[in-house]
Amino acid sequence: MLAPGGEIEAESPLAEFSLSSLRAWPAFVDELERESGVSIDFRRSGAVEVAYDDAEAAVLHSKAERQAGIGIRSEPTTHLGQAARFYPDDALVDPRTVTAALLEACRRRGVVLAEHEAVLAVSPDGKSVETAEGRYEDAGVLIAAGAWSSGLLRGAPRTMPVRGHLISWVRKPGELGPILRHGHTYLLQRRSGVLIAGASTEQVGFDRAIDEAAVEEIRANAARLWPALGHDAPVERWNGFRPAIEGDGPVIGRLSGDGASGDSVWGAFGHYRNGILMAPETASRILSMLDAADSVRSTRQ
Ligand SMILES: Cc1cc2nc3c(=O)[nH]c(=O)nc-3n(C[C@H](O)[C@H](O)[C@H](O)COP(=O)(O)OP(=O)(O)OC[C@H]3O[C@@H](n4cnc5c(N)ncnc54)[C@H](O)[C@@H]3O)c2cc1C
Repeated sequence: MLAPGGEIEAESPLAEFSLSSLRAWPAFVDELERESGVSIDFRRSGAVEVAYDDAEAAVLHSKAERQAGIGIRSEPTTHLGQAARFYPDDALVDPRTVTAALLEACRRRGVVLAEHEAVLAVSPDGKSVETAEGRYEDAGVLIAAGAWSSGLLRGAPRTMPVRGHLISWVRKPGELGPILRHGHTYLLQRRSGVLIAGASTEQVGFDRAIDEAAVEEIRANAARLWPALGHDAPVERWNGFRPAIEGDGPVIGRLSGDGASGDSVWGAFGHYRNGILMAPETASRILSMLDAADSVRSTRQ
């Protein structure tokens, strides 16, 4: 989901960052499709946030008033006779198609990719990384390893995994319009018809095991939100790790080394619940920092 409407309530630098990243998504998708030839499942679907009773409707209403002050549009609507708000600017994208497009775009630009080769250590000056296969040397390193990031550089802000389960069904394409959500439960549909429901929030370290109780809770909450699901069992269930970080995340910038001499370790991690939403703006912020470091370097030469 690219859904500041469900995530942001008050003005903050992070809110501004997220909103500008949402605005950057359509151009990011166009450019990436052009560069890669891979079709990206992106849709400005809007989102409907549902209230189950009057108290929840009042909370939704006052949240919407605060959000209007920071430019998040919404309007009252109903969902199956219940009070709700429609957020027209929320969108969705299939991150699997984005990753496929990014990989292809990199290949076409001649980027050398070493997949399935974990980095074991990053040198503090950013001149090299070690993997089980050997050592790579270059002018700098960008650590973008999500919840695993802090393990790669001594002294980096500490990252922690927060596990979340998702489940899916295969349904008729176009059956669900906007994203539907209530609290931390949401439903969205891919172009292919795959309908996804999420998500749990669990502090269990890097444990990849499927928790059937969490799966059942998501299924039941999703069926309450959208009764057309009935009692159908999901066809797929999986989990992932949100990269939480100590302090106010995310970290986007230089972590060590002297940027002016060109050798540095940079970081882009700790995006917690909104790393997909914040991806284009993160990339563009890193690029401007690298450009700035380059121009300082060339004036000193
Ligand atoms: C259930 C769930 C639902 C979510 N829903 C949303 C949503 O709707 N919208 C949204 O914006 N965000 C959502 N998020 C959050 C989003 O997925 C993350 O914020 C985002 O994936 C972070 O991106 P990242 O690239 O920093 O980390 P990751 O996506 O975790 O990627 C890190 C990569 O680094 C690799 N790696 C780790 N260690 C090493 C190493 N030593 N060497 C080499 N590679 C390494 C990993 O294998 C991985 O591929 C969700 C997360 C979860 C778990």
